[in-house]
Amino acid sequence: MSTSSATLPRIGFVSLGCPKATVDSEHILTRLATEGYEISSTYDDADLVIVNTCGFIDAAIEESLDAIGEALAENGQVIVTGCLGVRAELVREAYPQVLAVTGPHADGEVLDAVHRHLPRPHDPFVDLVPPQGMRLTPSHYAYLKISEGCNHSCAFCIIPALRGPLVSRPIHEVMREAETLAEAGVREILVVSQDTSAYGVDLGYRTGFWDGRPLKTRLLELARALGELGVWIRLHYLYPYPSVDGIVELMAEGRILPYLDAPLQHASPRILQAMQRPANTENALERIHRWRAICPDITIRSTFITGFPGETEEDFEQLAHFLEEARLDRVGVFAYSPVEGAAANALPDAVPDALREDRRDRLMALQEDISTQCLEARIGREMTVLVDEVDDEEGALARSPGDAPEIDGLVIIPDGEGLTPGDFVQVRITDCDVHDLYAERVDV
Ligand code: SF4
Repeated sequence: MSTSSATLPRIGFVSLGCPKATVDSEHILTRLATEGYEISSTYDDADLVIVNTCGFIDAAIEESLDAIGEALAENGQVIVTGCLGVRAELVREAYPQVLAVTGPHADGEVLDAVHRHLPRPHDPFVDLVPPQGMRLTPSHYAYLKISEGCNHSCAFCIIPALRGPLVSRPIHEVMREAETLAEAGVREILVVSQDTSAYGVDLGYRTGFWDGRPLKTRLLELARALGELGVWIRLHYLYPYPSVDGIVELMAEGRILPYLDAPLQHASPRILQAMQRPANTENALERIHRWRAICPDITIRSTFITGFPGETEEDFEQLAHFLEEARLDRVGVFAYSPVEGAAANALPDAVPDALREDRRDRLMALQEDISTQCLEARIGREMTVLVDEVDDEEGALARSPGDAPEIDGLVIIPDGEGLTPGDFVQVRITDCDVHDLYAERVDV
């Protein structure tokens, strides 16, 4: 006997946090849909609501608690998962009525809690679930998480405490997921993890198999194999280890996108050491010059923190000088903000709030000129871009190989009528502003 859609249990879902959390949400949604639950887009319609939280910084904790409060007020039946779930006491103290609280990467526990409060339907409608699973990103790009957790202990970060040590996914499983995504029409795969360069370290880089051939569980081999799928491959979160040179060679050969997202956080060796950053003894500037020599077209993105405890004016000047020398294409700068439970909180010589922010503003002003000059250098060039959105007023909004979704700029094509999201199109860059490029279509 089949269950009619009207009687299927319905679940609302609120997904907060970083791309890694988005991937967790997608896994939970996929499993729910596989079991026959319906996903509801409104609180009213849902039998219960799952809130996937972020607990990284105080602002994220607040946003997560607000979201839980809203779901309780609107629906009343709420399961909490994600990074804030590690601090269950905080959630329970604020909202004793939540049905269950689990940590991140806990699909099984979330499903168990759902089953307890909303029994699974009899007819799972398995065939209705697309083979690539349920995704939260637009259908033409997707995040691919290759590992969970982190073996480092950066002083400002509590992710290793929240998510545990590095656990890499078997390479055949990662490749199977990527292949399914490509077959389902995804045009761009964004590889994410806490430390992408460390992929496979925990497995001793063991050899797996994909498509009948041996493949080492290591980033270089994975990136090369992903590059065979015929879609854009973009890597996030790499550190300036010498081994990354091999990855940049793949970029130069056009196998993966010439885009490197390397969160460096500082340039003063003293502060990098205090931060306990991975690769803090590497000479990042030399590495960057080397990457550019291997792949002149590379776009390099990074993030930095100003006002970390102990940062002197001299350390800050060193960082500013580094940015002038490195001429990175995209930079995010954040004023240091203490995270509850992080080791950095015990460090002496806290920098006053106002100074942290002043240094951030100074660095951003400096970088703004550099980023604009990097964009100006692209004017006149032809390139392939990927259309994300088509807007009646602005035209087509696309991205170049140098722009990751959500965090980088756009390529705006005013004469983009007739294009659809997911189209690759050849354009010539005609102009730029501080963040975005403007382009015209080129007939090929
Ligand atoms: S590398 Fe550092 S900042 Fe990144 S997740 Fe690991 S501990 Fe946190």
